[in-house]
Amino acid sequence: MEQTKQFGKGTRAVHAGVEPDPSTGAIMTPIFQTSTYVQEAVGVHKGWEYSRSHNPTRAALEAAFAELENGTHGLAFASGLAAIDVVLKTLKPGDEVIAGQDLYGGTARLFRTNHAPMGIVFHFVDTQNPALVEAAINDRTKLVWLESPTNPLMQITDIAAVAALTKPRGILLAVDNTFASPMLQRPLDHGADIVMHSVTKYLGGHSDVVMGALITKDAAVDGPLRTIQNNCGAIAQPFDSFLVLRGLKTLHLRVERSCDNGRKIAHWLKEHPKVGKVYWPGFEDHPGHEVAARQMDDFGGMIAFEIKGNNLEQAKNLVAATRIFALAESLGGVESLIEHPAAMTHASVPAEIRAELGISDGFVRLSVGVEDVDDLIADLDQALNATVH
Ligand SMILES: *Cc1c(COP(=O)(O)O)cnc(C)c1O
Repeated sequence: MEQTKQFGKGTRAVHAGVEPDPSTGAIMTPIFQTSTYVQEAVGVHKGWEYSRSHNPTRAALEAAFAELENGTHGLAFASGLAAIDVVLKTLKPGDEVIAGQDLYGGTARLFRTNHAPMGIVFHFVDTQNPALVEAAINDRTKLVWLESPTNPLMQITDIAAVAALTKPRGILLAVDNTFASPMLQRPLDHGADIVMHSVTKYLGGHSDVVMGALITKDAAVDGPLRTIQNNCGAIAQPFDSFLVLRGLKTLHLRVERSCDNGRKIAHWLKEHPKVGKVYWPGFEDHPGHEVAARQMDDFGGMIAFEIKGNNLEQAKNLVAATRIFALAESLGGVESLIEHPAAMTHASVPAEIRAELGISDGFVRLSVGVEDVDDLIADLDQALNATVH
């Protein structure tokens, strides 16, 4: 199918980017496990020269990413962080970036330890309040980088409100859409210039690939990113691209089930005597609920909560005591995961910043998968009762 824009999300997830292979009719894009392409004469070739620059399996996946995000250009990278690094490499020393204060730990680490020493100036602000973004803008500001929902506090930023600040000033707005996936939120539709994904998570969906993506809907924004992808070479490989093309075909089903399970688990946790505050944007008293209801199609399967008493040892015991929820970093796969951000995914965030944000000792994060929700609830119940006192 050439373009799938007119179809529903499920049809698009199944068909985006994929054409029958012209040489055989194979319905699934073949794995073009090749580094180079034979030329008939110097410069006479079929449009493919070298697989750092182009590969047909990767190209199909990149087209799928673009379609699913309502963009026109997609790029696939060796990891989510490689994709973020490429965006930052478009900047020059002295350029300024306004970044969300609650970011994936590895993103904040990349900014602070690699890009700041190269002369990029970062302002970390609470993007939930667009007035704080506006206050940090000056004539050196080139990029605003945010997540919504954030990892791990599930904070929501009004993407359109931030775009209304950046667009007239020629500042690029990049949104890390990993937590929502294009099934729940399409930031380009709200005025973002660049969408980034850790494909490792929902897009891949089976915990078997590490990959990143950038999507734009403007050739002028895509151009420098594509040049850096080729110059620096952190590309997605053909076999990994094939696995993600396969994963995308069930993205709508996986995300829908994860949202349904997440909704039931969030409400159940809220009533549990061993549980304190529960962070999930579907609750009407969540500070970002109204914005989330407007810019997202559903509230997702990522949930965080504090255990009663906020005890570090008990929280560590809890995450080790579940039987179905696996104790692991990462998220967005078919299997449910549980983790302790302060000691795991966000250990690289300085302790005082973690405390300021509210990532306390008793703070636990769930990635709700697609298993039977009654089994997941029973698993959490036995673990909470066995470890939290
Ligand atoms: C995992 C993650 C990343 C980093 O992606 P990798 O594929 O691990 O490099 C970036 N942002 C968010 C929100 C993530 O969850």
